[in-house]
Amino acid sequence: MGEGRSPDRPCVAVIGGGPAGLMAAVVLARYVHVDLYERNRHVGRKFLVAGAGGLNITNQAEGEELLQHYAPAERLAPMLQAFTPGDLRAWLSDLGVETFTGTSGRVFPVRGTKPAQVLRILRRHAEDRGVRILTGQVFSGFTDDARPMVEQGGTAHVLEHEQVLFALGGASWSRTGSKGDWLEAFEAIGVRTLPFQSSNCGVELDLPGSLAVHAGRPLKNIALRAGPHEVRGEATITAHGIEGNAVYPLVPVLRRQLLAGEEATLHLDLKPDLALPELEGRLRDAVGAERRNAAGLDRPSWALLKAFTGKEVMDDPRSLALAMKGLRLPVQALRPIDEAISTVGGIAMDQVNEDLSLKAHPHLHLAGEMLDWDAPTGGFLLQGAFATGRWAAQGILKALGKGS
Ligand SMILES: Cc1cc2nc3c(=O)[nH]c(=O)nc-3n(C[C@H](O)[C@H](O)[C@H](O)COP(=O)(O)OP(=O)(O)OC[C@H]3O[C@@H](n4cnc5c(N)ncnc54)[C@H](O)[C@@H]3O)c2cc1C
Repeated sequence: MGEGRSPDRPCVAVIGGGPAGLMAAVVLARYVHVDLYERNRHVGRKFLVAGAGGLNITNQAEGEELLQHYAPAERLAPMLQAFTPGDLRAWLSDLGVETFTGTSGRVFPVRGTKPAQVLRILRRHAEDRGVRILTGQVFSGFTDDARPMVEQGGTAHVLEHEQVLFALGGASWSRTGSKGDWLEAFEAIGVRTLPFQSSNCGVELDLPGSLAVHAGRPLKNIALRAGPHEVRGEATITAHGIEGNAVYPLVPVLRRQLLAGEEATLHLDLKPDLALPELEGRLRDAVGAERRNAAGLDRPSWALLKAFTGKEVMDDPRSLALAMKGLRLPVQALRPIDEAISTVGGIAMDQVNEDLSLKAHPHLHLAGEMLDWDAPTGGFLLQGAFATGRWAAQGILKALGKGS
């Protein structure tokens, strides 16, 4: 028991100091003492990485429109309904972090607010509520009676807290501390886990060397389709294939196809705003390379088109228009986990009760990306992490007979 702590107040451990763990700690700390254990010297490293490309903290979607982005939606629904994107924005605003809605419904902290500032505010809010943040502490496994062990400087100690909340994150960008190296520990106490796989990641295509000069260049205002799903947006040519916001929502379909050994194909519409007859008409009025200008295509798009069609297609206006409206890009693989924005896998959802406690060990609770749920980028991941963190914390308070 720490200094100034009342022995009558229960003490809960939170392991993992990302958005899910910090949110849980803040909610818990209104009613109980909280010790937050984090392996790094600082909390929230992945949150900072997420912020490096523009901190897309939630999305303006609400209700069914919000839920359709999550899988399994029916499991996450109560958590996202209890803490909606609007609630998250109001909560942030109370802490002094104002947000605005950008393109495609993405919500960001107002211009000039750096991710490090947001993180500092979250950490301070937790500390002001009395959360004791203990860094350099690594969860290393369980005792025979499912008590977590934490190691610091080679010395392990057993956590005696009545209730423990894990928020260890997924397994991408392992240098942020979210290494996903705890699957075996949970398996050892009888909890079913699933191997991690990339989500929100780039895809590998068999790109010819001629496309290397276009690596890093965007394909703007395109539509991509995989199976029945179509996404409008942008993609970037990479050294290995393509990535970007038009690709990520299609990854679940491609992953399923690849795992089943089926052909995984992206269908690229380079001119989603032009109907086929109009496009064909424009191409008929031009010859050779002039057709690129006639169709209003930039060089990277033209290079990609050439790479994935034959000369006979490039020479025939009708075939060329068809190729521009539905270029087949056979996908060879997803990019590796460590490069992915998020992962699926971790603790199987059927292992947790509705309140996110483990069925096999109800004193252990889970939140955030370590659970096997999926959502695209666009703010949905952080929204999911915050909402599950809050929900799991409320489950603990209920179990302790605290809170409302
Ligand atoms: C490049 C990139 C960009 C992203 N952009 C966005 C975006 O714009 N919008 C969005 O919504 N999401 C984005 N995300 C995803 C988002 O950052 C994550 O989904 C979110 O951080 C998950 O929160 P979490 O609390 O579950 O896990 P994490 O943030 O991963 O936190 C887990 C914490 O647990 C700690 N930990 C792990 N293992 C142990 C252990 N054994 N002992 C002690 N501590 C441990 C880790 O060090 C870490 O601090 C991005 C991610 C990446 C990598």
